[in-house]
Parts: sequence; C-alpha cells; structure tokens
Amino acid sequence: MITRLNIDLTVEKVCEGFVYNEYEGKGLFGLAGKLVIQPEYQRNYIYADGKKDVAVIQSLLKGYPIGLIYFTKVAEDKFEILDGQQRITSIGRFLTMKFPISDDRGIQRYFRGLAEDLQRKILDTKLTIYECSGTESEIKEWFRTINIAGVPLNDQELLNAIFSGPFVTLAKAEFSNSQNANIQKWSAYIGGDVKRQDFLRTALMWVSKGNIDDYMGRHRYDTDINELKTYFNSVIDWVSSVFLDVKPQMRGLNWGELYERFHANAYDPNDVHEKVSKLFADFSVGNPKGIFEYILGGCVDTKLLEIRVFDDRTKQVVYERQTAEAKEKGISNCPLCALGRDSNQRRIYKLKEMDADHVTAWSRGGATDIGNCTMLCATHNRAKGNK
Ligand SMILES: [Zn+2]
Repeated sequence: MITRLNIDLTVEKVCEGFVYNEYEGKGLFGLAGKLVIQPEYQRNYIYADGKKDVAVIQSLLKGYPIGLIYFTKVAEDKFEILDGQQRITSIGRFLTMKFPISDDRGIQRYFRGLAEDLQRKILDTKLTIYECSGTESEIKEWFRTINIAGVPLNDQELLNAIFSGPFVTLAKAEFSNSQNANIQKWSAYIGGDVKRQDFLRTALMWVSKGNIDDYMGRHRYDTDINELKTYFNSVIDWVSSVFLDVKPQMRGLNWGELYERFHANAYDPNDVHEKVSKLFADFSVGNPKGIFEYILGGCVDTKLLEIRVFDDRTKQVVYERQTAEAKEKGISNCPLCALGRDSNQRRIYKLKEMDADHVTAWSRGGATDIGNCTMLCATHNRAKGNK
C-alpha cells in the first residue's frame, strides 16, 4: 500500500460541492465531486449533537489541529474518506448553514453570520490528509488499525466495514434504519442504538449463535438476507407469544439463546403471565431480569433470581433476640446446635460466627423478612445451604 501526505488541500477545496443527505444522515460528496465522504462501509453521521460538531468548528477558528484525515484513492482523481468523515461532514454542514455556533458573546451564528475574516480563516485552513492506495484487503486491514481518533467504531461498525458488500447493505437497510416501523416493536426486546448497529448486531448474533465474523464472512456476497430476517422474526414472534407482558427488564436479554434452548417446549401464555406478575411483585427477587429464563426453564433454577439475602441490621436484631433467649434457657444460640448432644449444645456464638437463614425457604413461599429469619452457626448454615 502506498501513502502520500497531502497538506495543501484547504477546507474550501475539500468541501466544494458538499452535499448532506438529511434522510440518510450522511455527508455525501466533496472536492467538487471527486470525493465520496461517506462510503457504504462507514457509519452514519453521529456528530450532529451540538457539541462534537461545534467543537470541530471552534477548533478551526482557534487554529487547533483537527487531526489526520485519511483518503483512499479509488481511481485516478477519485477518493473516498477512510477516516475523518465525521469531521468533514461537520465542516460541510456548518458551511452549508445546517447548524450555528456561539461567538465569544454567546450569540448563535451561522457560517454566513460570522465576520468575513473568520469565514476566511475556516475556508483557508489546510487539512492534513493521507492519501492511500492499495488493494481492498490492505486498505480494510489498515482501516482496522487506524481506527483510533474521534468516536471509535464499535465492533459491529468495524465488521460492517471489513465485510462490506451486498449482504451488509441489505442487512443495514433492515436492521440499522431508524425509519423502519418495526424498530419500536423490536426495541421491547433489544437494547442499544439502531444507528450504532446494535440491532443488526443482535440479529447477527442470534442467527450465527455468537459467531458473527464467521457468518458475515460466509454471507458477504449474498444478495438476500432471508435467513437472517427469518431467524430474527422467529425469535421475536416466539418471545412475544410466550410472554404477553412487555417488561423493561426484557430489553437486551439473549433471546436468541433462550429461543434455541426453549422454543420446543409448550407454554401456556396465561399461566406464564401469572408467574411473571407474581415474581415481579415479590420483593425477595433480587434480579428481575432472571425471571424470564427461570420461568422458561420450569421454575427450578432459583439462582437466576438472586433471591435477596438478609441485611446486616436484620441479622443483628435476630441474633440479639436468639442469644438473650438461649442464655436464659442455658442452651446454644444456634437452634440446631442446641438440639445436638455434643459440646456445642450450650455454645454461645458471636455474631460474626453466624449467618442468616430462611426459616421457610423462598421456594416454599418464605419471605426475606425478619419474621422468617433465623441465625445459624456457620457450620449448620452451610449444611442447610447445600441441601
Ligand atoms: Zn449450629
């Protein structure tokens, strides 16, 4: 791969003929049509937050460097931006009056509202640009390496870049498009940001059973995404028919994996609904996210629910009561030791030698409250816990 440093291009030149597509959220062209700002494998423009975009303009006005920009040479006199499209798009949008900045008196000013000399200062700023030419694989490998400045690409954005092609294009149109009416329905079960490819990542994760790289590599040149779509819809349909409730804790669970493990089982949605309601209303359940898997698995694995433990104050109160009573009767303050016949029958343990236990287990309806708490010596507590 060959790289050439170009320090002669000004902001004015690079943004000549700049076009911003509001609908796609992309800066499209520059350099009088010779530069593609946002090639297919780049993520959408995400600097439009009134902070990052403004910071780019303020940097230009103060004469601060805005960092290296990388172009790839795709043909004679034709370039694509490999790194720097967020910065270039910010500048282009400012020059085309898409957003204002505040001046030193706090007044909002669009580009044409700036003093002439400040406009000139921005336009005449020279950018530091590396122009690279090489094979596609060299350039993509290198793109992975230079992904350092600005907001780093996340894993899925990188994979989209590396496996760019018809499959990624179609998959993005379905799963990365915030205009897609299904997004709202899906977001009941999927967390993250559509624009940053979190929905696409989830869909790929499910269909590939976690081997996203491998899956994208194998399907890179596919001209349809039928398998991806069908699998994804099967999972969503399954979840929404088993669970009539939509709870915020459902977002971001690995429904693909749960689907694989449980979709062959039959569930009565009304019965499931009752179980969900009961568990959500149970204060002892420390991890409501675990409720769904617990129910799918037949309400056996209570570890998933992280049943609450007794707090220190409760333990102390119960300890004091038990100990006072035990001393009066001349027996151990561990009720199980008191039943025994060995030397511990009369032993009084210190608080730190004991731990709390449910009198009636949670799985049999016992609550995690002071009325259902007993203190046992460490040995008996362990023995009971193992049952
Ligand atoms: Zn004991």
